[in-house]
Amino acid sequence: MKAHDGMYIGGAWRPAVGTDTITVLNPADEQPIGQVPAGTAQDIDAAVRAAREAFPGWAATPPAERGALIGALRDQLVARKDEIAETVTAELGSPLPFSQMVHAGVPILVSGSYAELAATYAFEEKIGNSTVYMEPVGVVGAITPWNYPLHQIVNKVAPALAAGCTVVLKPAEDTPLTAQLFAEAAHEAGIPAGVFNLVTGLGPVAGQALAEHDDVDLVSFTGSTAVGKQIGATAGAAVKRVALELGGKSANVILPSADLAKAVNVGVANVMSNSGQTCSAWTRMLVDSARYDEAVSLAADAAAKYGSRIGPVVNAKQQARVRGYIDKGVEEGARVVAGGSEVPREQGYFVQPTVFADVTPEMTIAQEEIFGPVVSIIRYEDEDEALRIANGTVYGLAGAVWAADDAEAIAFARRMDTGQVDINGGSFNPLAPFGGYKQSGVGRELGPHGLAEYLQTKSLQF
Ligand code: NAD
Repeated sequence: MKAHDGMYIGGAWRPAVGTDTITVLNPADEQPIGQVPAGTAQDIDAAVRAAREAFPGWAATPPAERGALIGALRDQLVARKDEIAETVTAELGSPLPFSQMVHAGVPILVSGSYAELAATYAFEEKIGNSTVYMEPVGVVGAITPWNYPLHQIVNKVAPALAAGCTVVLKPAEDTPLTAQLFAEAAHEAGIPAGVFNLVTGLGPVAGQALAEHDDVDLVSFTGSTAVGKQIGATAGAAVKRVALELGGKSANVILPSADLAKAVNVGVANVMSNSGQTCSAWTRMLVDSARYDEAVSLAADAAAKYGSRIGPVVNAKQQARVRGYIDKGVEEGARVVAGGSEVPREQGYFVQPTVFADVTPEMTIAQEEIFGPVVSIIRYEDEDEALRIANGTVYGLAGAVWAADDAEAIAFARRMDTGQVDINGGSFNPLAPFGGYKQSGVGRELGPHGLAEYLQTKSLQF
């Protein structure tokens, strides 16, 4: 894999200040595939300075021109689609067709949507005797995780640039090669020097330096709830804007009137996709008592079909963590009906697609984010109990409701404490706001709501 040995700062690849490096491994065979520099606070400082210098010019660039440049960036991603997919597969381990369709395909859609939104968004509004201007917040520090390496980057960088902000990105240490490809695409697209900057490095070093930097106006973070809380506290103390996209424990609520086989099969597929490393995954399947046993057997059959086609999880730590949760589930009395914690292969960080039955709402596997291919099936007696269970975690990111007709599912979804719900399967909408209730986060990504995160208002009265 191609790897740059510098940081992309102020429109050029510059040598890192320190000499430490990060070795990137292929999780499917544990072999090294590249090396990138591990940035320090000094690299972050240089990148923030470049972003600050570029800010006034970029903020003053007419939105339609910003949109045209984001469109050019999208075209560069399209031109690199195969390379992006191969890189994500090499550093994350996801199967190539999934990398092509989702890891490369979705960010292309999202960047295209922001090329258009930059040109059409109402950056000015009249309210009575006032004119309200939506102005860019300033320099953005973006910190992204490894689970959707390019998608997480584009979800932050595209709306920030559309809004007129400049960005310093610190991507996850497991997937920095995809981030370097993105920087190449931004460069080739003609995004002006300093508008987008990349510093690779470790979370507690480069990430923390970015989150704590005085001259960063907004920190946008996606990742674990533990780190998110820390970043939120730091931003709060500095009275700085913050957007947090954290964990989830989403409920897949199958109401008694629903098509059970469809709801179970789509539900299992949803969790197995990306080896369960999706913050919005429907990891808790809620089924009524009368159809519980049937759902369990359908889910076990569905999971057994996946085998190791789902690919490994990202690294050894994640593999140990997921297996630990599976052991914990057994220990607390849940019943494994597919998979289990034994590793399916000697080499690579694989975990078996696993389904648990007899899960009760207070069990650890029903409360904590596992971030692996594990479905927990929970029984409910009536709709009120289903709602209590669905809402009974600290999270509220996504979810699904299945019923014979949409109206019944919608009525239930409106009572859920969660940011996004798929009705009878739903389908991805790149313009719909995505983000969490409760401890799943603060703020929204995607579409016009995602753009608004990077704006602040100024009103003039006449
Ligand atoms: P993490 O929160 O440690 O890492 C996410 C990003 O934050 C990375 O870029 C990392 O380098 C950076 N980071 C880490 N510590 C930091 C700090 N002190 N200051 C600033 N930045 C810091 O997540 P992880 O360890 O990669 O994954 C652990 C768990 O997080 C997973 O098992 C999963 O439950 C959850 N997770 C959630 C998402 C999501 O999309 N919501 C994504 C990845 C992981």
